[in-house]
Amino acid sequence: MLGTEISVYLWHEVPEEAQELVEAVFAETARIDELMSTYKVSSRITVVNEFAAERPVDAGRELYDLIERSLDVSVLTHGAFDITYESVGQHYDFRERVRPDAETIERERERIDYRLVELDSGSNSVRFSKPGVRINLGGIAKGYVVERGIDILRRRGVTNAIVTAGGDSRLLGDRRGRPFMVGIRDPRVEGEVAISVPLENEAISTSGDYERYFEQDGVRYHHIIQPSTGKPAAGVHSATVIGPDAVMTDALSTSVFVMGVDRGLRLIAGLPDYESIVIDEDGQIYYSDGLAPPE
Ligand code: ADP
Ligand code: MG
Repeated sequence: MLGTEISVYLWHEVPEEAQELVEAVFAETARIDELMSTYKVSSRITVVNEFAAERPVDAGRELYDLIERSLDVSVLTHGAFDITYESVGQHYDFRERVRPDAETIERERERIDYRLVELDSGSNSVRFSKPGVRINLGGIAKGYVVERGIDILRRRGVTNAIVTAGGDSRLLGDRRGRPFMVGIRDPRVEGEVAISVPLENEAISTSGDYERYFEQDGVRYHHIIQPSTGKPAAGVHSATVIGPDAVMTDALSTSVFVMGVDRGLRLIAGLPDYESIVIDEDGQIYYSDGLAPPE
């Protein structure tokens, strides 16, 4: 679901009830996918994309709220995180090795600007102030899904669990008395872990240029777009963000990836609850101030 793999780990005394809880998380994931997937012709976000340049479109409270949070992150990151990246992003198909030509990028780039998205909270409506603008919540929706999943488990009495969607995980409690060890992938060696971090009760998100990409003439075209150029962001291989809220760690990991090591770590330094680990294109690992690098 959501173009990725969803997994649920939990501790429970009664296997049947545990199974039921896992199913409940999957059902919630499917519901959110139905609302927020740009691949579904009937999803609410598809309707927004189709008509919001013509008239305000009622997005419904839930989708509206996540769009609003996305725009807040755009302000926070000075536009590094921008859901209107999709204006160009829609022209990529990583599975089919399709990418936009220079002319298309030039034309659509003018439609990447979060300020073109106008919100009306009274009616939950979204309007685009320019034709051709498109939005995509791919950089934040998985964080939302894992946050919702953990919510379901917590409300039903679970105290130790992990919900993961692709590169985004939310942990509930610990590994029964010990921290969970969460591995950050080596961005270039499949199946290898670059660093393991002990964590409990936190969210961790990693954005990488290895999740969705293809190579052509020695260039890697991947799925994280630099809004200012309309092209895949260069310089970083993976960006990880750790903190209390998965919606934020998801959006911030994409943001740090786009901003690069220096600007990215400076952003995180200004957010006391969040830490970051960045692996650059030379394989060098950088840590935010709150994380002591391993000896
Ligand atoms: P993953 O876990 O799939 O690596 P990320 O959290 O890094 O995910 O999100 C990547 C996704 O974010 C892309 O597939 C795309 O949908 C969306 N995206 C790409 N560039 C941007 C951007 N500059 N701002 C916001 N969202 C983006
Ligand atoms: Mg992200």
